[in-house]
Amino acid sequence: MKFTRKEFLKTGALITGGVLLQGHKFLYRAQEKVSGLKTIRDNIGIYIERGGTIGWYASNDAVVVIDSQFPETAKNFMAELQKKTDKRINLFFNTHHHSDHTGGNIYIKDFADKMIAHEQCVEFQKKNYGSNPNAQQVYASTTFTDKWRQEIGKETVVAKYFGPAHTSGDTVIHFEKANIAHVGDLVFNKTFPYIDANGGGSVASWITVLDKVSNYYSKDTFFIFGHGANNDLVTGSLDDVKAMNSLLSALIDFVSKEMKNGKNKLEISLSTDIPGTIGWKERVAGMLRITLEKVFDELNKNKL
Ligand SMILES: [Zn+2]
Repeated sequence: MKFTRKEFLKTGALITGGVLLQGHKFLYRAQEKVSGLKTIRDNIGIYIERGGTIGWYASNDAVVVIDSQFPETAKNFMAELQKKTDKRINLFFNTHHHSDHTGGNIYIKDFADKMIAHEQCVEFQKKNYGSNPNAQQVYASTTFTDKWRQEIGKETVVAKYFGPAHTSGDTVIHFEKANIAHVGDLVFNKTFPYIDANGGGSVASWITVLDKVSNYYSKDTFFIFGHGANNDLVTGSLDDVKAMNSLLSALIDFVSKEMKNGKNKLEISLSTDIPGTIGWKERVAGMLRITLEKVFDELNKNKL
């Protein structure tokens, strides 16, 4: 493949800039600004500004919020939510530990009665962000290992853990009656994903997890995704979940084939023509390269 010096420098700069170390800020800057709550159905909807998609349930009898983006956007979200309800948040969930999903906890905490997350989410949030004096952390005080369930108002909310994937603590939060599930970053819809090996993630296990998710929920389930190639793609169907799984399989197949062909990490990571990835986009330049490097590292580690 052709890779111009200019492109190489651009991509190299992004990677040496330490995407994850900078708390995902660079990765999510490209999202469009949208204000206001968007309703899906039955008092359930999403809020998009910067970072992972926030999910909400707001009715006369209960309020539930999923993820908090960043402190400044959590504040904007709460201002919108308070136009809809004057009630406190009964249940708040983090889907996983990344700062674009937990950074706003510091703002949300004053409005939330109960903050819940998988135990690995809290552990990695402490480990990866806990010592940063510039980003004060608020952790979920209620944790679970496998499944957490509560009837609230007219809804039943179930948080379920399927295993390591994007990180080690990814949770799906399901509004059972409305049949709407927020899968966090288990799905990057039509955009190349970040595999956080340092956060306990694994591309191989991610495939297993998405198989389980596909079997557990149904074709009637409406899904909310942490990220999408654009704002219209942060929600979708079981087909999108399965497409994410196919994408991960295609990446593993490609990288393992190229490794068998004797290609090195740099050569593989600079590939752009990858079978099974048509229609998948980079949200920022260099994301595909980072994804390929992560797949390479995992396969290489397991080979040794
Ligand atoms: Zn994430």
